[in-house]
Amino acid sequence: MTVIEMSAVTKEYGAVRALDGLDLRVERGEIVALLGPNGAGKTTTFELLLDLARPTRGDVAVLGGAPATARGRVGAMLQSAGLPEQVTVRELVRLVGRSYPAAVPTDELLRRVSLHERASRVVTSLSGGERQRLLLAMALVGEPELLLLDEPTAAMDVASRRAFWAQARTAVGHGATILFATHDMAEAQGVADRILVMARGRLLADAPPAELVADDDLEAVFLALTEEISAAHPEGALS
Ligand code: ATP
Repeated sequence: MTVIEMSAVTKEYGAVRALDGLDLRVERGEIVALLGPNGAGKTTTFELLLDLARPTRGDVAVLGGAPATARGRVGAMLQSAGLPEQVTVRELVRLVGRSYPAAVPTDELLRRVSLHERASRVVTSLSGGERQRLLLAMALVGEPELLLLDEPTAAMDVASRRAFWAQARTAVGHGATILFATHDMAEAQGVADRILVMARGRLLADAPPAELVADDDLEAVFLALTEEISAAHPEGALS
C-alpha cells in the first residue's frame, strides 16, 4: 500500500519556490530518510503532508486520500512544536490522547519512550532529549499508521538517539511507516531503508543506503549532488 504519494508538487511562497515539481512515494512499513541542505524544502514537504499548507500545483495523497482526511492516522514531530508550561508529562500525553478514538494508555506509552520516571514532572523541567521523547510519545499516542519526524533527534546525545530509534522501530513493527528529515548522514544510513536527497525543492536521489554509498561515503555523495544543483541554479533563480 502506498502511504505517501506526491506528484509534480510545487509550493511557492511569493517569489520563493520551496518545492519544484517534487515526486515522492513511500510504501507501508518503510523507514525513509529525507536529506537536504538548509532550505531544501523538507519542512515544507511535511507541512503539505499534514495539511498545514496546500500545494501551489500538483497532488498530495496520504494513506490513499487528501491529507486532511488522514490527520487522525498520522503522528508528527515538527521542529516548531511548542509545549505548554505548568503541565506534567502524564497530563499532557493524556490530553493529547483524548483526541484519538483509540489512544495508547498513557503510562504504557511513557514506559515505551522511557519517560515513565518523569511522568509527574512539569514539561518545562525536561532536558532537550527528554523533551524530544515526549514529542515522540505525543506523536505515537494515536497509534499512527504514518510518522512524520522533522529532525527528531537533533538535540539528542548518542545513547538517547539509539533509544529513540529503537522506540520508533517498535512503532514500525506495529505497522507504521516513517518519513524523517535529518542532517546526520550516519543516522540516515543506519536507520533508513531508503534515502531521499533533495535540494531546491527537487528530488536528486532516491535509493537504499547501500546503493547510494556504493563507491563513496554518503557525505561525499550528498555534497556532490547538492553542489551540482546549486551551481546549476544560482541563489534567487526560480527555475
Ligand atoms: P532546514 O534544513 O533549514 O530546516 P528545509 O529543508 O526544512 O530547511 P523549508 O523550511 O521547507 O526547508 O524551506 C524551503 C524554502 O521555502 C526556504 O527557502 C524557505 O525560506 C522557504 N519558506 C518556507 N516556509 C515559508 C513561508 N511560510 N514563507 C516564505 N518562505 C518560506
